[in-house]
Amino acid sequence: MSSPTDSFLSSKRPRIHKSTSGDEIKTYESPDLWFEDGNIIIRTVLHDKAYTVYKVHKSILASHSSVFLDLFDGPQAAFDTASERYEGLPVIGLPDPPSDVNDFLKALYFPEETHCHRPISFPFLEGIWKGFPYKYLGILHLAMKYDVAHLREYMLGILRDAWPQYLFDWDYLQKHTEDLERAYLRRECFDLSFAHPEPARTIRLAMDHNVLDILPIAFYDLVRVHEVIAPNPHEGFRRADLSVLTADDLRRLTQGRGALRGKFLEGINNLLIVLPHDDCKWVPVPGKSSPCHAGLRKWWDAQLGAVSGPSVADPIGWLREKVGICDDIPHDEVCSGCTRVVKKYLQTVREDLWTSLPEFFGLGLLPSNWGQETEPKLWF
Ligand SMILES: [Zn+2]
Repeated sequence: MSSPTDSFLSSKRPRIHKSTSGDEIKTYESPDLWFEDGNIIIRTVLHDKAYTVYKVHKSILASHSSVFLDLFDGPQAAFDTASERYEGLPVIGLPDPPSDVNDFLKALYFPEETHCHRPISFPFLEGIWKGFPYKYLGILHLAMKYDVAHLREYMLGILRDAWPQYLFDWDYLQKHTEDLERAYLRRECFDLSFAHPEPARTIRLAMDHNVLDILPIAFYDLVRVHEVIAPNPHEGFRRADLSVLTADDLRRLTQGRGALRGKFLEGINNLLIVLPHDDCKWVPVPGKSSPCHAGLRKWWDAQLGAVSGPSVADPIGWLREKVGICDDIPHDEVCSGCTRVVKKYLQTVREDLWTSLPEFFGLGLLPSNWGQETEPKLWF
């Protein structure tokens, strides 16, 4: 299957020459990566008897990549004389897809153009997540293959920005994502897929390239998408490409969703058990339940009314909203001391869910302290 980059290269007019065996060979020169003072030709196979070529610099490649450094260093003279030539320059044939090589070389030469998804910076633009994470797949793969450490770390940083390990960062990202979704909905655009990075392909990428620390939240996000099976064109919906997942991925998804829901329901059902407590401002009447308890039951029953079907697909988000509105509980029904306890309890349930994500999705290879902040942060 050809990528947009392959199509782009194919649309350029090729140079045509005959091979020694008389076959007609088409060669497409890269319009962006063709430097007049280049001293090496990188060649990739576009399709049968058609190539793409890049005129670049040995020094640039060698300074970034230990693999290229080894190739050019030492036996360089032998390489120069023995290699095939194009415009008099030695040719290195790479077996990688042209679109990957194109993106990889661009990332080396024009790194500032590489990162086009900046989730935590403003302004958000329509379709900001479009192409994520596909755009980085080839670059990451070749950065690993050709040992370009800084580019690999840069790509991993982009992935981790989108799929953070800490709840504080996830909350921050979600707050802005909700703003973006509202902007879409105001324009009556109900497909909200591009308001988010795509989780299913992220999971495949992370599995294939051993980027395990982004998996818990990518799986969690996929649960959110997957839960709403039929897109409702009037409420906003997302799509995820489940076809890329393996049977093992799908098993983790299903088991994780069940475990997540179980722990969430346990947490919210136990809320009323936490009262009464020592900070209560009301003097308890012997033999009677605390007035705060009755007030809290009334408030909590109203909140739980919405916990059904898709609304529990995002329990961490649901709890964030409840923590946020705790301060609105009337103090003549639940005293300020009890309200503080409730708020803390709900936040603890959220944090427990968050740090349990690796366990839910069967990601036992992750460090046991995944998701645990070393210093507390206050968001609300
Ligand atoms: Zn109280």
